Amino acid sequence: MNTYVAPDLVAELAAGGRPVVLFGAGDIGVLAHEALTRLGVPVTCFADGRQSKQGQTLRGLDIRAPERLTELPADSHIFLCGNYLHTMTARLRAMGFTEIHDCVALLDGFDFRGSDTGMDLVLIERKIALHKQECMKAGESADDPLVLKYLDVVVTEACSMKCQDCSNLMQYYTKPRHSDLDLLDSAVDRIVEAIDGIYEFRVLGGEPFVNPRVHRVISKLTGYEQVQKVVIYTNATIVPRGDNLDCLRHDKVIVEITNYGAHSRKHDELVATLKENGVTHLSKIPVWTDSGRIRFVERGDAELDDMFRNCCVNDVLTLLNGKLYRCPFSANGTNLGAIPEDPADVVDLTSGRSGAALRADIRRLYGRTTHLRACGYCNGRDYRTPRIEAAIQIRKPLPLV
Ligand code: SF4
Ligand code: SF4
Repeated sequence: MNTYVAPDLVAELAAGGRPVVLFGAGDIGVLAHEALTRLGVPVTCFADGRQSKQGQTLRGLDIRAPERLTELPADSHIFLCGNYLHTMTARLRAMGFTEIHDCVALLDGFDFRGSDTGMDLVLIERKIALHKQECMKAGESADDPLVLKYLDVVVTEACSMKCQDCSNLMQYYTKPRHSDLDLLDSAVDRIVEAIDGIYEFRVLGGEPFVNPRVHRVISKLTGYEQVQKVVIYTNATIVPRGDNLDCLRHDKVIVEITNYGAHSRKHDELVATLKENGVTHLSKIPVWTDSGRIRFVERGDAELDDMFRNCCVNDVLTLLNGKLYRCPFSANGTNLGAIPEDPADVVDLTSGRSGAALRADIRRLYGRTTHLRACGYCNGRDYRTPRIEAAIQIRKPLPLV
C-alpha cells in the first residue's frame, strides 16, 4: 500500500485564518470533511446548488446556497466535491474566488478505516476513483488520453421485475431478447481498442442474471487491462450459480444490489452466497425520480441543453445491440423505435469504422455538451425531477404512444 502524503495545502489550511468550503454536500463532500477534520483543518461550511439540501446541516455544518458564498472573503479555499466541475468552477470564478481545488490529492490514498462517513471502504474507493475520473475528464484537452468514466453494457432487454417507471425503459419491451454475445464481444473489443482506458464497465439489463450466459460477458470485461472495475447491477431476484457465480470471484468485480424490499425476494440468500464466495458487493436502497416515461414535449434548445447538462446519467455511455449511445434512455428509447435515431447521437460499431476514425467518433459522443434528440422525449434525471415510489410493478408491458 502506498503511504498517504497530505497535500502541502493542508498544512497551510490547518494553520487557520482562511475559510474552507466544501462545494457539494454529497458523498465526496462527506469524505473531504472527514479527511480534512482528521488532518486538523477546520471546515467552515458546505455549499450545494440543490435546493433540497440548502438550509440543512451536514456533519454539524450549514449547507449554504452557492450565492451565499459571496459573504465569505475572496481568498477562501473551496474544494469541489460534486460532479459538475466546469459549471462549479465557472460559477465560483464569477464570484471572484481563485483558491479552487478538486479533492483528488486530499482523498486519494487517505486511510478511511474506522471513519464515520456511513460508507463502507469499497464504496469509498469507488467514489474517490470516480471523482478522479471526473477531474481527469474535466481537464482533458483534445490531445489528451480518451478515458471513459462509465460504459453500460446491456446483456439483456429482459427483467425479472416489471417496474412501471424503470428509467432504462424495460417496461416497454414486449418481446425482450438477450443481447447477441458475438456482436457484443466485437463491439466492446472495438471500443477498447479505440480508447485509452475505462474506469468502470457496468453490466446490466434488465436483470443481468436472467441471461444464463452473462458469465461470458463478465469474464471478457474483467480481462481487459485498461479497465479498473466491472460492476454488475442486480435486483436480487436471482442467485447466480455455476459459471455465473464463478466469474464474480475476481478482484475487479463488484456486485451492486438494488434492494427493492419484498420484490428483491432473494436478497438475503444472494448476500450470503456472495459473502461465502468472497465476492465484493454492495446493497443499496434506491431513490427514484420520475424518469421512466417516453413522451415528446416541445421545448426550446436552451431548456433541452440545461436538462442535458444537469442530467445525472449524461456521461453513462451505453452499449446496446452493437451501438454506442450517450445515455441509457437514448439507447433504449432508440432501440425500442420510440425515438428516431439521430446519427449525431450514436456510434454504430458495426459500421466498419475503426482506429483513429472510431476514436474521433467516440470522443465526439463523449465530449458532447449539447442535448440529444432523446432529451426531447425524456422527463429529465436531475435534482429537479420529481421523486416517485420505486419499483411499482405492472402486469403487462406499457404501450408506446
Ligand atoms: S428498474 Fe425494475 S424493470 Fe428496470 S431493470 Fe431494474 S428491476 Fe428491472
Ligand atoms: S435523454 Fe437527456 S435528460 Fe434524459 S437521461 Fe438521457 S441525457 Fe439525461
